[in-house]
Amino acid sequence: MLKSVFRCLGTNPVAGYRSMSQSSLAGKVAIVTASTDGIGLAAAEALGKRGAHVVVSSRRQANVDKAVALLQSQNIQVTGTTCNVGNGEEREKLVQMTLDKCGGIDILVSNAAVNPFFGNIMDSTEDVWDKILSINVKSAFLMTKLVVPHIEKRGGGNIVFVSSVAGYQPMQALGPYSVSKTALLGLTRALAPELGHSNIRVNCVAPGVIKTRFSSALWQNEDVVDEFKKQLSIKRIGEPKEIGGVIAFLCTEEASYITGETITVTGGIGCRL
Ligand code: NAP
Repeated sequence: MLKSVFRCLGTNPVAGYRSMSQSSLAGKVAIVTASTDGIGLAAAEALGKRGAHVVVSSRRQANVDKAVALLQSQNIQVTGTTCNVGNGEEREKLVQMTLDKCGGIDILVSNAAVNPFFGNIMDSTEDVWDKILSINVKSAFLMTKLVVPHIEKRGGGNIVFVSSVAGYQPMQALGPYSVSKTALLGLTRALAPELGHSNIRVNCVAPGVIKTRFSSALWQNEDVVDEFKKQLSIKRIGEPKEIGGVIAFLCTEEASYITGETITVTGGIGCRL
């Protein structure tokens, strides 16, 4: 009963007091790629708590089911499907399913990335570069290209890319991945003036080391963590929700004058390009 009252009001019980404020995303539809774990899931949670209907996806159905159940348990409006962002048909299926089930698109958070290579950059192969650039950069652009006409139909919206501190300062042993993350800073700047005409803001978040499966090789090794902490002003590894909140902020009216920007969320690592 209470749930349907909230639905009629176009709001979300979790968002509650925020529903009328500039931080509200009530009535918005947000696609977050690679969102069944880590930073993507935290972004979906933060967007959902601000009232957005979130569309979560990743390659494995079991992961999608788990993420949907978790978000539903927090009274977040959520739809889930599988989507490997490297596959054009699956990208189109994700967008079409969102339109069919949610009636439109207001927000894209492009979060997916892979890193199949650790080592000296001079040992990296063409296959490694193809895979990394295809998933981390090309699919981010192609997802954007797919959603923009639909965001335009809503009168505007937001695109957020997930880069990395490695995009500013290449990490040793992660050369090709780092280069792909630098490319996202460029993509953000290239798209912002173009999409500004359509009232679409384009921003980027560059996390430092955040406690997720993706970065477990870094934070599970105490020596690496101790060495890493020397660069940090806040002497701990970050949590996914500390990135999710910044992503959600960028999609709200509170960030209405921010576009073409990358926000570094690193615990204080110096970031300069
Ligand atoms: P994570 O916790 O390992 O989660 C990765 C998510 O991506 C999972 O939901 C996974 O689910 C999905 N996924 C993987 N490949 C995919 C693909 N091809 N298509 C669709 N979904 C895919 O990773 P994370 O640390 O949150 O990383 C998220 C983003 O943050 C990445 O862009 C990464 O570069 C960036 N980042 C992370 C850190 C960090 O320290 N963690 C720092 C800087 C930047 P399935 O297995 O079901 O596909």
